[in-house]
Amino acid sequence: MRSFQVCTCGQPLQLSTQPTPKPTGTEVLLKVLAAGVCHSDLHLSDGYFDLGGGKRLSIVERGMKLPVTLGHENVGEVVSVGPWAKGVAVGDRRLVHPWMGCGECGVCQRGEEQLCLKPRSLGVFLPGGYSDHVMVPHPRYLFDIGDMPPERAAPLACSGVTTYSALKKVGPTLTTDPVVIIGAGGLGLMCIALHKAMGGHSAIAVDIDPGKRQAALKAGAMMAIDGAATDAAAQIVAATKGGAWAVIDLVGSSATARLGLDSLIKGGKLIVVGLYGGDITVSLPPFPMRAIALQGYYTGSLNDMAELIELVKRTGLPPVPVATRPLDDVNAVLGDLRAGKVIGRVVLTPAG
Ligand SMILES: [Zn+2]
Ligand SMILES: [Zn+2]
Repeated sequence: MRSFQVCTCGQPLQLSTQPTPKPTGTEVLLKVLAAGVCHSDLHLSDGYFDLGGGKRLSIVERGMKLPVTLGHENVGEVVSVGPWAKGVAVGDRRLVHPWMGCGECGVCQRGEEQLCLKPRSLGVFLPGGYSDHVMVPHPRYLFDIGDMPPERAAPLACSGVTTYSALKKVGPTLTTDPVVIIGAGGLGLMCIALHKAMGGHSAIAVDIDPGKRQAALKAGAMMAIDGAATDAAAQIVAATKGGAWAVIDLVGSSATARLGLDSLIKGGKLIVVGLYGGDITVSLPPFPMRAIALQGYYTGSLNDMAELIELVKRTGLPPVPVATRPLDDVNAVLGDLRAGKVIGRVVLTPAG
């Protein structure tokens, strides 16, 4: 088994060759057909999240054990099945839901494994898909994608389920009012496409990069606003006729969170999903006086994933641009992503 791993935080991923494992118990072994490269892989390889003010959240202190094989957006073909793994057979093509918990605590029993206090996320705490094989602990994490091309389906595992869950948090105004989506990278284009598929009223994209704004308009955004403009908040307030009911911040920087809060109407909600990093200082009286809300959300549940796959089967795959590259190019791809050169998603094809 050839895998690309973080061995030292801040260094390029290193190739490791190990014997291919055999599934035991409920485990399922898949050959990796497609592994999406996600922006959070940059943070994971750096080993920390930026908390702002010079503070850092160490992922290693949070339980990530090195070396770790990254890659949490995976589609694979089942090649071997443990004796207790039911409902899955050799040759099946499956999307892997990577947001795994302990499976036993109250949070997991409620179906919110992504919020478990003992996370086992694939590609973070368990070996991920930057490898020719990936081991999945239980068949409940495997989703039938029908005849979707693996490289188009793979981004549903993170970028898809994360934006789908964030859009669900918008609530009833989703179908009656514009949603402001900050960030038009891979996550943003996915969000715009799913917003439309969910019957969303209209999407206003915000990005500082003209190329990404163009991509957002092409993906169906009603309008694309330059987030770096000094009057960006005023432009959003004007475009939403008084302020946004919902802003989804897919960047999560000091500047974008500030812009998001400044763009809300009374009763509006800022949903922070991006992990870019930073901090903001906010005045408290506007929270009650303007009845605004600030909410964070992390990935999605198994149920969200099931709903998303159903939605995509019904309405078609989100038309997010996808480029495929061989597994051995992973460090170059991460470099491009860090430099902001990627439009849409790059997906590695380890079995190709
Ligand atoms: Zn991700
Ligand atoms: Zn749990």
